[in-house]
Amino acid sequence: MLKFHDTLTKKNKIFKPIKDKKVLIYGCGPTVYNYVHLGNLRAYAFVDLLKRYLQYSGYSVKHVMNVTDVDDKTIRDSKESGKSLKEFTEFYEKKFVGDLDSMNIEMPDVMPRATDYITEMVKIIKKLEKKGLAYRSNGSIYFKISGSKNYGQLAGLEKQLLKENASGRLIVADEYKKEDINDFVLWKEWREEDGDVYWDTEIGRGRPGWHIECSAMSIKNLGETFDIHCGGEDLIFPHHTNEIAQSEGATGKKFVNYWLHNAHLLVNGQKMSKSLGNFYTLRDIVEKGYDPLLLRIILLKTHYRHVIDFNFNNFVEAKAIADKFVNLLFGLDLIEREDKNKLNIDKLTDGCGNKFEKAMNDDLNISEAMAAVFDFINEINKSLGIINVKQAEDIRKSILKIDKVLGFIEKIYDGYLVKLGQEIKRTEVGQLLKKREEARENKDFKASDRLRDEIQVLGFFIEDTKNGSVVRLRNW
Ligand SMILES: [Zn+2]
Repeated sequence: MLKFHDTLTKKNKIFKPIKDKKVLIYGCGPTVYNYVHLGNLRAYAFVDLLKRYLQYSGYSVKHVMNVTDVDDKTIRDSKESGKSLKEFTEFYEKKFVGDLDSMNIEMPDVMPRATDYITEMVKIIKKLEKKGLAYRSNGSIYFKISGSKNYGQLAGLEKQLLKENASGRLIVADEYKKEDINDFVLWKEWREEDGDVYWDTEIGRGRPGWHIECSAMSIKNLGETFDIHCGGEDLIFPHHTNEIAQSEGATGKKFVNYWLHNAHLLVNGQKMSKSLGNFYTLRDIVEKGYDPLLLRIILLKTHYRHVIDFNFNNFVEAKAIADKFVNLLFGLDLIEREDKNKLNIDKLTDGCGNKFEKAMNDDLNISEAMAAVFDFINEINKSLGIINVKQAEDIRKSILKIDKVLGFIEKIYDGYLVKLGQEIKRTEVGQLLKKREEARENKDFKASDRLRDEIQVLGFFIEDTKNGSVVRLRNW
């Protein structure tokens, strides 16, 4: 039975979608004013794991992820760059899509841009005004949190804290801290510093606040109540807290059934920040020579509600994990034996599959799920000498089924084979291999050993099979 930890109720809840086998997911997407950083990527990798596991479990998923292309930061930085808001944000949106692709993160089914949903935002704001949950002050429109029944429940805010902070100040900024709880802005009246960024609407000339954007885009694409809302835990307050207040205030219905939040990513035990020099984007990782798919492994292998303490040694471990799969698949590819044996491969593959699912059903317990897969690989490796072609195919199938969830095994293996082919061509190792075989046939073991050493210096291992020798890469 599939269970998720729900931030709102702070309980592990059995998952039951609104519509039988269809799951509606909204995950907060990027604010496209810069390249996304590792912390952001962790959130997108988490949603990808969630979505892939739901699909693996037989659900069809509609996944919506917004692009925030208008807010305080995009306006500020586009002005600084001298570009129009659209030109500026489109650049980073494209880079973002490229980042997802290189980490094999599936694209959302719908990726709405905030600037295309102004009409929907205005509609919600008008509804809130009508219900007495929004009011105008100095031209801008604010949400009245005292009118909201359970304001702050998601973030575990005490009523007392709400009272203490009701200083009468209004919050205009898109981002603020708990100490600044107050009525927050829904619609910001145009000011000179906004330049040409404004919309003329029924509620005046201006632009939306950040929080209302996600309410409008999620409701329009998924309905007034949907199944799962995801995001990093830093979004619990104020962003998701305000999303609930606005959405439920406007519709009178429950907004979301399951709130799933991923924990932070630290770098060497510290919060990532530009001033500490520990701020990384995917470009930084690639420039240092690391494969984005190894970053995928690093981000996925820790349970989503545990903090990841990132450092570059993580790549050694990720590479070791990748190697386990590469070695297994390569070993299976070399099998030519057809004779029968007593191995019960079905029992091994079923056992692995069951353990994997049991762990993943428990709020996506990835560490246990991956441990089950590693145990399976160890068992297979012990028997690699007797496994036949048919069994090898069954093992391969079960690994690739699990890869529908993990999303890195096949890609990494394909990449490995390409690199192997390139290195064989570049080093012309085939000639040495042929000479070595001739030497072996002539029982000239001295020459054969010398040739093996030469081949190893070129960066290969030799595997002797029934039909001759093959090479594999020592490093890739
Ligand atoms: Zn959002």
